[in-house]
Amino acid sequence: MSDARVLHFFGGKGGVGKTTLAAAYALRLVDEAPKERVLIVSLDPVRSLSDLLRKPLTAKPSKIEAEEGAAEPKAEPKVEPKGKGKGAKSTKAEGGLWAMEMEPAALTKPFLQKYLPALQKAAVKGTHLSEEELGKLYSQATPGLEELLGLLHVAALAESGEFDRIVVDTAPTSHTLRLFDMPVGLRKFLGLVKAGGDRAASGKGKKAAAAVSEEQGFLEELLSRAEKLLALLKDPARSAFHLVTLAEPVPEAQTRMYFTQLRERGIPVVEVVVNQVEDKEGCPTCQGRRGLQAPHVRKYQALDKNVPVHLVCKREVAPRGLELLKPFAQEWASGKETKTLEFAAAEGPPALVRAPSMPPIAAPPLPPTRLIFFVGQGGVGKSSCAAAAAVTLTEKEGPVLLISTDTAHSLSDVLQSRLTDVETQVKGTKGLYARELDVPGWFTALRKRWKEKAEKAFEGAPKTGNDVPVDLLLFRNLLDAAPPGIDELAALSCLTDALVQERFKRIVVDGAPMVSSLRVVELASIAKGWFSALHGVLSKHKAKGLGELSDDMAGFIKHIKRFEDALASPTESRFVVVTRGEELATERTARLVEYLKERKLQVERVLVNRVGPKADCPKCENRRKNELNAAKVIEKQIGLPVTVAPALGRHPAGLRELKAFRTAWYALSATAKTKAA
Ligand SMILES: [Zn+2]
Repeated sequence: MSDARVLHFFGGKGGVGKTTLAAAYALRLVDEAPKERVLIVSLDPVRSLSDLLRKPLTAKPSKIEAEEGAAEPKAEPKVEPKGKGKGAKSTKAEGGLWAMEMEPAALTKPFLQKYLPALQKAAVKGTHLSEEELGKLYSQATPGLEELLGLLHVAALAESGEFDRIVVDTAPTSHTLRLFDMPVGLRKFLGLVKAGGDRAASGKGKKAAAAVSEEQGFLEELLSRAEKLLALLKDPARSAFHLVTLAEPVPEAQTRMYFTQLRERGIPVVEVVVNQVEDKEGCPTCQGRRGLQAPHVRKYQALDKNVPVHLVCKREVAPRGLELLKPFAQEWASGKETKTLEFAAAEGPPALVRAPSMPPIAAPPLPPTRLIFFVGQGGVGKSSCAAAAAVTLTEKEGPVLLISTDTAHSLSDVLQSRLTDVETQVKGTKGLYARELDVPGWFTALRKRWKEKAEKAFEGAPKTGNDVPVDLLLFRNLLDAAPPGIDELAALSCLTDALVQERFKRIVVDGAPMVSSLRVVELASIAKGWFSALHGVLSKHKAKGLGELSDDMAGFIKHIKRFEDALASPTESRFVVVTRGEELATERTARLVEYLKERKLQVERVLVNRVGPKADCPKCENRRKNELNAAKVIEKQIGLPVTVAPALGRHPAGLRELKAFRTAWYALSATAKTKAA
């Protein structure tokens, strides 16, 4: 571990313990070299670092010390780069741990004040878009920018030499990838903008040209900073990427994809840390929980023999606060854990345990609305729950559409049926149709179709020096600068078709993991703006043969609007938040519910998945007690009825098991049940 890397990124899905491991790693670094200054930065919008360290953090580094006996003064280091690079090191104060939580929104605001006017002035002129329209558009292209600005800030901190090592708790998977792609996207985007600016400059007097080049100077500086950042991220001597995951189906699928994508981008992955691995103690049920993990750990080990896989033991009490994190970090650093936890060749998934025929308190019925969303962190068993609900609804009521919008699809596995991006009737059911939506593919196809139509319509239009009509250039530019996340929203509008057709009694959605499905909700209005702007360019050219494309787009905007209305209507949509009975999951669940409620979305209930059955084994019984306690805290804190879904040995798969699984759900408390009925 004693390498000289300055930047350590911790990445992975939400809920895998990324923040905990990042903080523990930072403590390991401090332990190893007490004179060094180590900073842990969180870029995760969920802001769990404050919770973890039990200290409210800000966007300024603050010294983290044990509560008692800390002799050092709580001086805050200056962040401004003073005497760049190594020279600054000698003047440094004492070593230790500092922590900060980035506020991307706060970084973005002052930046946009410069960025937007620069873009507007440099952008393609002589088009039919007013400055105001352009401004609206460019400000919509900013969600990805927030993340880039966060990273640029981290890079500046690294360059300042104020800290010897920086550990970064990154945003969950999809966010982080987008972040690594930003410099490339930005280069493309600014290239287009610049082409327009050059043309504008050549057509004007010297004064105007000078103004344009000043704006371009700002944009180019941004681009060069972004490219320098990319080089830093790719440099294995300066940066290291630690992939954190769990030994479970959904995290496995996503981690493997993530691993490949990081490799493709040239990001140095130095280890895979598998968190919450069960130890070898306990009864056969305990061993069953461990056996479930075995195949996933083997998959991680098969990724690349040069990338070590480290196993971290599941703790009954999640290590929070310095007093618990420190021993956790020391145990992890000793390296003994991986060896002790290593899986034997014979270990594998257990048999399915038969569900009790009579649950303690019968579960209340599912929401009465046509659209039912199952949402929650990746890996909580959302797909099993959504599929189990869909299977029973089909039996009771008739045709049901079950659609997965998660990029790491698991419906095929859960239903034991080969699914694609086309609605397919699941064998052995009377009208259960399932589909695994290809979110990026769907948007790429849409974009391609529109681009082709536009290119065709612009054939024969007057050309500029670049051999491309100005409006076509603008149109391409707009398509390329689609706000990140818009692909998910666009694809989700497929649900509008299902809604309008009335073919299905119910539509059950196995939603994307928490953060991205949250974005989808937020993106609805952004998307409308973006599509309207595209439409605006086109509608001014109706006569030139763009009418068809323009109508196409208008129809699409209506489509999205219909979906948005359905989302917000309590008679059309309800949300079921799926979670696990774990202490840390409770806070995330509370945040998710609060978020959905703030957006006036109807949250029907919380489903606490995989709660162990009654057992004689003290370890199992203790686990069960903790899980039920967490469920009770959720019910009390959030004020929503909690339904409990039991752990049945391995994960239920196939129609019969899913039905048995659904029958075993029960209400946590009788009072909550009456409230729900
Ligand atoms: Zn046990």
